[in-house]
Amino acid sequence: MAQLRLICFDFDGTLAYMHPTHWATYAEAARDAGIELSEAALASPGVDRAWDPWLTPQGVAHPDASTSAAAFREVRVAIAMQRMRDAGAQVDDATLRAAAERAATLEADASRFRLFDDARPALARIAAAGTRALIISNHLWELPEIVDALDLGSMFAGVVTSARAGYRKPHPEIYRDALREAGVEAHEALMVGDSITADVYGAQDAGLHAVFLDRDHRTDLPEGVRTIHSLLEVPLTWP
Ligand SMILES: [Mg+2]
Repeated sequence: MAQLRLICFDFDGTLAYMHPTHWATYAEAARDAGIELSEAALASPGVDRAWDPWLTPQGVAHPDASTSAAAFREVRVAIAMQRMRDAGAQVDDATLRAAAERAATLEADASRFRLFDDARPALARIAAAGTRALIISNHLWELPEIVDALDLGSMFAGVVTSARAGYRKPHPEIYRDALREAGVEAHEALMVGDSITADVYGAQDAGLHAVFLDRDHRTDLPEGVRTIHSLLEVPLTWP
């Protein structure tokens, strides 16, 4: 058994969650601009093709959109407009843009994020073992500030967010970026997350070990995926 040098965590659904939900936040932003959209319509599977323009065979790559906070916010606004249109918004562009701007502001509000109960004790356990922790997340430009607002900043050696990296998991480049930042080899690192595609397969493609966080005790897991049910079960060694 070799001691792992770095434990990497996904953020949403793994360490923290949005409250109200992301789609409820979108509905609220639309309502603020005078558009009635239901959370269900926004959450419908057809709506989320937001990143399709940046999709490559390895995953979403948007380095051109990650040159500055302002450039990335413009992408978030465009995505929010597309999502609201796909959810049935039939309004003029100026009204839709106002709603999308509001959504981009609300979704970056740190007070809308809550930590799962096991996050803080799990991070304390990892720190006590002398192992470093890092966040690798498909997230906003403001994720480092959100992590600080949750009083978690000191627990992590770094926060790698796709907004700044220019690549979204499962693209291997965001994992390579994180390993470079931490100065750790892929085989010395473990990824923990609640998405099999983004967190488990993506990390494995980049050479990291990975465990799937299955908080809901799913019964439809593919074979060969190592699973934990709580962050307190994160392995600190790997066979
Ligand atoms: Mg997640």
